[in-house]
Amino acid sequence: MPMPEPVVLPSPAEMQAYARRAAAAGRSVGFVPTMGALHKGHLSLVERARAENDLVVASVYVNPTQFDNPEDLKKYPRTFDADKALLAKAGTDAIFAPGDGAMYDPDARTWVEVGDLPDRLCGLSRPGHFRGVCTVVTKLLSIVRPDRAYFGLKDYQQFRIVEVLARDLNLGCAIVPCPIVREDDGLACSSRNVRLAPAHRREAVWLNNVLRHAEARILKDGERDALKLAGELYELLERNTSAEIDYLAIVDALHFADLRKIEGEVLIAAAANFGKVRLIDNTRLSV
Ligand code: AMP
Repeated sequence: MPMPEPVVLPSPAEMQAYARRAAAAGRSVGFVPTMGALHKGHLSLVERARAENDLVVASVYVNPTQFDNPEDLKKYPRTFDADKALLAKAGTDAIFAPGDGAMYDPDARTWVEVGDLPDRLCGLSRPGHFRGVCTVVTKLLSIVRPDRAYFGLKDYQQFRIVEVLARDLNLGCAIVPCPIVREDDGLACSSRNVRLAPAHRREAVWLNNVLRHAEARILKDGERDALKLAGELYELLERNTSAEIDYLAIVDALHFADLRKIEGEVLIAAAANFGKVRLIDNTRLSV
């Protein structure tokens, strides 16, 4: 049987009215925020939300305040009709798709910031990015009022910052982490992958290869020297790709502090530019 069409809500007021009706009917809401250009990584979040809630709301909104690079914002793929069809097939009940001017009042002056967690990893080369993310996520959660919100671990730093934000502001919404979905060769699915030149697409698989190498060195060989292993990973990525490496870090998974010794909850994360396309990947290990 074909899934019913999701209702498209183009303004915060309409989304809020929908959320109020859901609450009045005692129906739980699972929320999947996205910037569109959907792929199977996004859809895995929708499927999880579908399994755990009465209603599923997805948002499709390219949030301008989280782009530190205007060129990146301009080039961000926008594929709403295809996104809507995919969301319908995955069983989405409502799509919150605010137009470009609908989310921020022209006089807006409120920002949400989460301590020093944005000062590491991606935040270092993307000034203001997480301030934009935290602000839009706070706005989205206050508009949609979900019981649970689903975030992909591909953007691990984002997930962790949002988890802390929801805890610190008592947002009353569970932040649910979802595993990284990959292409057949191991490259993490990303809306940016379509912009890779063919040669870069072939090389990009090394972002995942170095993480698998790290796992083997830690879990099989018992390597515990973070500096030594980071150097090894850097060299491996440099030797096998033409990418400009932004960072390759071995840090504590909760606060992103550098580790000397690999132990506890460990995050190994990498970001690299393949041509003009910035890709990220990570793995989290309990050591
Ligand atoms: P975006 O549209 O890039 O803002 O991503 C929306 C949500 O989808 C975020 O929570 C991402 O972490 C998540 N996501 C993106 N790519 C993947 C992936 N390959 N696997 C799992 N989740 C993903």
